[in-house]
Amino acid sequence: MENINTLKNILATPKKIVLTSHRNPDGDAIGSSLAMCHYLRTLGHTADIVVPSEYPDFLEWMPNIAEIAVYDLEKERVKDLIAEADIVFSLDYNDLDRIDKVGDMVKKADVTKVMIDHHLQPADFADFMLSEPSASSTCELVYEFISQHLDDKDKIDLKTAEAIMTGILTDTNSFKYSTSPKLFRIVADLIELGVDDYLLQDLIFNSLKQKNLRLLGHCLHNRMEILDEYNTGIIFLTKEDYADFDISRGDTEGIVNYLLKIRNIRMAAFVMEQPTIVKISLRSKGDFSVQQIAQKHFRGGGHRNASGGASFQGLRSTLRRFKELLPHYKEELTA
Ligand code: 5GP
Ligand code: MN
Repeated sequence: MENINTLKNILATPKKIVLTSHRNPDGDAIGSSLAMCHYLRTLGHTADIVVPSEYPDFLEWMPNIAEIAVYDLEKERVKDLIAEADIVFSLDYNDLDRIDKVGDMVKKADVTKVMIDHHLQPADFADFMLSEPSASSTCELVYEFISQHLDDKDKIDLKTAEAIMTGILTDTNSFKYSTSPKLFRIVADLIELGVDDYLLQDLIFNSLKQKNLRLLGHCLHNRMEILDEYNTGIIFLTKEDYADFDISRGDTEGIVNYLLKIRNIRMAAFVMEQPTIVKISLRSKGDFSVQQIAQKHFRGGGHRNASGGASFQGLRSTLRRFKELLPHYKEELTA
């Protein structure tokens, strides 16, 4: 991070700090926020977490998660926190539009802005930036930020380590993607600090409700289309499916990944008919970049192998539009 000494000086006296993360926060968003929050509190700062929309149920076991200010539920509290802040951290997102209305408040606020993130193409809004798209997760970067950039490894306690491990486990899907020697060294450090990786994996990945498995069965049996010619798989969900399966936030997490289990599939799309938008989750294997598809065609972005976006055209025409794109990418998809 450039000018790290300036930031160290700012952090040398107690500050009011707000940690923000993206809408529909995932394990990395919440893990990195809670890790930074615990760490900053141990230094004597006042630290609070703000996210635009609710976090998924499977993270409810995390210590202090109930303290998080969710803008959708507590607008005034969020406004007050940002109005009073000296420093705002942007964790696990690369542009203020990823935090909806909270982004407008942060943009206008007279605060020091610090970004720690691993998404491609970061926007230029922060005073201090640790943006590393090759990192597995923002949590990996939080570990690096504290231990190396701030030279404060001794202050990483078990609670901070568990929050960091949570984001690493969820963003790598248990070490399936974006691994590196560096990541495994960090994980070794976390385990030495007392993190029980088996217990965390059980808490994170084995917490489904019966309805989640029934929904998965429905998606795989009735809502899956494989386009062999383009090595592409699609799963979609209709508004009626949302009602029939009582789907709420977090319930569709991970479903898109099943498409990548089919031999030769290079791109997976999960298309969800939500109340006001059609949400699209994209995954790929190897060099094929779903980031370019999300950015060019669905007002989104993310990572090379995991991106997302939205469409405002209704489910059927969004599915049609997605399929019409495939011939343009045929060469890359079948290389
Ligand atoms: P998911 O498919 O799990 O919702 O998201 C996969 C990745 O794409 C995440 O890193 C997420 O931050 C990013 N992403 C998802 N939706 C959007 C979006 O609408 N806009 C942008 N810029 N990124 C997104
Ligand atoms: Mn992440």
